[in-house]
Amino acid sequence: MSAIADNLQAVQARISNAAAAVGRSPESVRLLAVSKTWPLACVLDAAEAGQRAFGENYVQEGIDKIAAVSGRNLEWHFIGPLQSNKTKPVAEHFDWVHSIDRLKIAERLSAQRPAYLAPLQVCVQINVSGEASKSGCAPDEALALCRAVAALPGLQLRGLMAIPEPTDDLQAQRIPFRKLRELREQICAAGLPLDTLSMGMSHDLEAAVAEGATIVRIGTAIFGERNYA
Ligand SMILES: *Cc1c(COP(=O)(O)O)cnc(C)c1O
Repeated sequence: MSAIADNLQAVQARISNAAAAVGRSPESVRLLAVSKTWPLACVLDAAEAGQRAFGENYVQEGIDKIAAVSGRNLEWHFIGPLQSNKTKPVAEHFDWVHSIDRLKIAERLSAQRPAYLAPLQVCVQINVSGEASKSGCAPDEALALCRAVAALPGLQLRGLMAIPEPTDDLQAQRIPFRKLRELREQICAAGLPLDTLSMGMSHDLEAAVAEGATIVRIGTAIFGERNYA
């Protein structure tokens, strides 16, 4: 077995254990393999091992990989910051976008989504840690943004996404994930059915699963340490 196949198995085991610890079924958590910065060969290796969903942060890198594997029935999620001048290729080639943080981006993606494709599946990114530098919509503006996004014809609003400040303590990791879960509950109670919580990365997936993650976004634990040089 390849190292990537081994790592995928180990990550699936972490998900299963974390789910079992809180009485959730492991099937209620989807694994998104974050392949940013890794060459196509790594994506193909993971796909051979049965991985279907891949996450990318950079538009051109993602588009190149999607073009190279067309016909393999993989699912592509855009998870990085998105500038308004880059929305068109994302609307045309990706299946999901997790990083909607303002209405303008959502409106452009909706208008640019080709009619022959299913609506783009989207999450609104929430700034749960509160630092001014972090991207994401403020929690108290989330309901209004979700309502506006849900009304756009080219998009299907699925849920919320967050990238909390990293910390090593499991209990501290759970706090922002709990905030995101509670925010989803409030938005559901306001009449918008959200089925997705996109939260948890290599270092905090256990905390995220404990708080109800339905998609975990895992890069390093599958592909290794990234080298941005
Ligand atoms: C890079 C990235 C990940 C994966 O992080 P790892 O720590 O490598 O698992 C997940 N989500 C987002 C938004 C990312 O940019």
